[in-house]
Amino acid sequence: MEMYEIQRKELIEQLVRKGIKDKNVLDAMLQIERHKFVSGSTIMHAYEDVALPLGYGQTISQPYTVAYMTQELKVKKDMKILEVGTGSGYQAAILEKMGARVYSIERNFDIYAKTQKLFDELGIRVYCKLGDGTIGWEEFAPFNGIIVTAGSPSIPNALLKQLEIGGRLVIPVGDRETQSLKIVKRLNEKECAQKNIPNFRFVPLIGREGWSKEL
Ligand code: SAH
Repeated sequence: MEMYEIQRKELIEQLVRKGIKDKNVLDAMLQIERHKFVSGSTIMHAYEDVALPLGYGQTISQPYTVAYMTQELKVKKDMKILEVGTGSGYQAAILEKMGARVYSIERNFDIYAKTQKLFDELGIRVYCKLGDGTIGWEEFAPFNGIIVTAGSPSIPNALLKQLEIGGRLVIPVGDRETQSLKIVKRLNEKECAQKNIPNFRFVPLIGREGWSKEL
């Protein structure tokens, strides 16, 4: 077994000890090579359970957070999932590996272009778009699941509207520094059920229904 493979296996064992149970999530994370989604000196930390810098002040989320959010989305094969905040592409790659049809939006052109190229090289099929994800992706709505990987001041209305009945929206909501993860399930046309898990840290979601601008 190569070195990265051993490290990846150890990371997955760590996630299990931290309470991740969904076998499909764990399987996908065992297969996706996180070290290919980071660059430079951060590569050697790729299989530690920590967030890592992507450049442009952005970060690839901690593996535990990726696992937890993906588990909460309750992904099944062929589900249509919208991701807001493509970033490194790691989260999208996990969802694609689980058999989802993934639509992902990124607002930063350089990050968008770099990740698009990486998806091509790795043969990962994710539909990418450059733009403001707080308004969703109307053309392909409704989605069976929506995952937002940047912290928002509130739940963007457009995203709620683009969520299929029975679908789940996973989004960090709070101030610029700390957020709680909100899991919103659309019950019918009018009602949603919601649960809250405190103490997460994401970079800010910048956009029409997010934060107004970078500090
Ligand atoms: N899911 C990513 C996490 C990247 S960090 C990964 O697996 O690596 C969050 C990303 O959200 C950043 O790249 C940032 O540029 C982007 N972002 C912030 N606000 C956004 C918005 N309104 N629409 C789309 N992307 C946004």
